[in-house]
Amino acid sequence: MSDITTTDVLIIGAGPIGLFAVFELGLFDMRCHLIDILDRPGGQCAELYPEKPIYDIPGYPVIGAQELVDKLLEQIAPFKPGFTFNRMVTGLERLENGSFRVTTDENEVFEAKVVVIAAGGGSFQPKRPPIPGIEAYEQASVRYAVRRIEDFRGHDVVVVGGGDSALDWTLNLQPVARRVTLVHRRPEFRAAPDNVNKMHALRDASAIDLVIGQVSGLAGEGGALHSLTVKGPDGDTEVACTRLLPFFGLTMKLGPVAEWGLNLHENQIPVDTEKFETSEPGIFAIGDINWYPGKLKLILSGFHEAALMTQAAKHIISPTERVVFQYTTSSTSLHKKLGVP
Ligand code: FAD
Repeated sequence: MSDITTTDVLIIGAGPIGLFAVFELGLFDMRCHLIDILDRPGGQCAELYPEKPIYDIPGYPVIGAQELVDKLLEQIAPFKPGFTFNRMVTGLERLENGSFRVTTDENEVFEAKVVVIAAGGGSFQPKRPPIPGIEAYEQASVRYAVRRIEDFRGHDVVVVGGGDSALDWTLNLQPVARRVTLVHRRPEFRAAPDNVNKMHALRDASAIDLVIGQVSGLAGEGGALHSLTVKGPDGDTEVACTRLLPFFGLTMKLGPVAEWGLNLHENQIPVDTEKFETSEPGIFAIGDINWYPGKLKLILSGFHEAALMTQAAKHIISPTERVVFQYTTSSTSLHKKLGVP
């Protein structure tokens, strides 16, 4: 078995509510580790609407969604949480000693006394592009994310898409791949202008290829791709391809959360409104993933849920310790934890 990472509280999901939970738990001396399938923190705020202004965060008449995530990261920094990105939590089981074992799709193992599910609308999963026969190559040659750059070294890589992920990986894989070809259905790109300029510069220097059109067919054997066809305005182009990276956006699916034996209510996890605990003692659910009468899927509701969950989590982790209610304004012990001079 791989190495086991132990922590007090394992948080599934690094969206705004998982992040704020680190703060509340940290005030009560609980160490946290967060796992997210995305490659960075922020959940829906970072992935779906980073540049949109939010108007209903208490104390901020207006704040950008990514700005809120950045502020939350700054707020939790004193508690030094652990993060594991690019991993989907697939397994959750109770051990004989009462604590929990959490496993990921890359077989990492985590153990914690308390699990907090802050999984929002579920896991973001890549959309499969409409390329005939793509399923046959998904084990070996088609990747929907770059987990290890080394897996692309020396390969003929074809990146498909016109957004930030497609441009980022075109630029980052160019130095390691045998050849990178970027395929997009039109000459305009939706990515950061600086990256678009860098990509054009590489193409002008013949360091990458850019093909305008849509992938219409794949060729290979035994699950291993060797080439593909791009149908473009000037006809078909054959492109050598041993690694295909399509970036066609993400969709949200409940995913493995449904398989953990918890009661569900229309794809949400019912909780009580005192502790926000699920049908399994020691497993809490906060934020968009939970359900109770009157539930509102708002960030401010999730913040409140994190504060109340923390009180209950503390009783599990330190059952003999008296939980003292304190204000952050006036408690010197909280100031110490926060590094307030
Ligand atoms: P999420 O932000 O969904 O984060 C959950 C995280 O869990 C995700 O990153 C996901 O990848 C991860 N995850 C799930 N399952 C797994 C798994 N098995 N393994 C690993 N990781 C997993 N709310 C407001 O209060 N005000 C607004 O103005 C507002 N505007 C919005 C505008 C838009 C366009 C949208 C889409 C939402 C808006 N919301 C707004 C809603 C708000 O974004 C959500 O309430 C909030 O993001 C919920 O936070 P969360 O942390 O519970 O979940």
